[in-house]
Amino acid sequence: MLLIGSHVGYKKDTQLLGSLEEALSYGSNTFMFYTGAPQNTMRTPIDNSITEKAIAKMNQLNIDYSKVIVHAPYIINLANNLDINKYQFSINFLKEEISRCEQLKIKYLVLHPGSHVGLGTSVGIKNIIDALNQILVDTSVTILLETMAGKGSEIGVTFHELKKIITGVNSKKNIGVCLDTCHLNDAGYDVKNFDQLLDYFDEIIGIDFIKCIHINDSKNECNSHKDRHENIGFGTIGYEPLIDIIYNKRLENIPKILETPYVGAKAPYKLEIEMIKNKKFDPKLKEKLSN
Ligand code: FE
Ligand code: FE
Ligand code: ZN
Repeated sequence: MLLIGSHVGYKKDTQLLGSLEEALSYGSNTFMFYTGAPQNTMRTPIDNSITEKAIAKMNQLNIDYSKVIVHAPYIINLANNLDINKYQFSINFLKEEISRCEQLKIKYLVLHPGSHVGLGTSVGIKNIIDALNQILVDTSVTILLETMAGKGSEIGVTFHELKKIITGVNSKKNIGVCLDTCHLNDAGYDVKNFDQLLDYFDEIIGIDFIKCIHINDSKNECNSHKDRHENIGFGTIGYEPLIDIIYNKRLENIPKILETPYVGAKAPYKLEIEMIKNKKFDPKLKEKLSN
């Protein structure tokens, strides 16, 4: 069964129930959320009664909650330890984030591996491994390292970098990968030949490590190292290749999450999900949203 959704909001009053309702309004059967604002680390306490209501509703609707994703805030950086206080803050925040996921009964937490900011890739990777080995102790949560576009000094741009991190992590059951189609394209991988790319990923890391895939078109050419998402079918990857990825049999049970940009003030997800389910590109999608 196709598992399709988008990233959705998470508000302190409505929490998981609000996120679920937003996802349902788009026609989704899965979703991803941040436990607060993605760009900061302010977090409010979780109300278990709201979580229980949301899970009960998902059970009624046959939504597999074990595949709903949390994304860690992107200011967390495990790769640079020049400012030891900032490094320690990132580690502590992620430990708390894992506790929040446990309280929410969430299994998968997506993480940007980090940016080395001048320390070099191998030192950056070592810092990430050291941090993850402090964080991934005695937990039911699996951290999914996201494939990155290669903006600035990002780590996790090549499969070999991700492989090095995974090799260094002691608890293999707590580590996985989240592919991002825009990031893969911008990193220089040919997502238009996705089966070949999956073969290559399988050779380096192993396809079973993939637990989530972010579906985004890209505003920039392959190998641009830019990371600017575009709506499905409106970028350099294009509608057909993205449909091929979404319906690829080898990733059938993996949640597909849209992180495409709003058009004006409007979320594109309802229309994009329709366009994915219909398997028919709608060239008027942006026009419809700007009216
Ligand atoms: Fe991300
Ligand atoms: Fe992403
Ligand atoms: Zn991105």
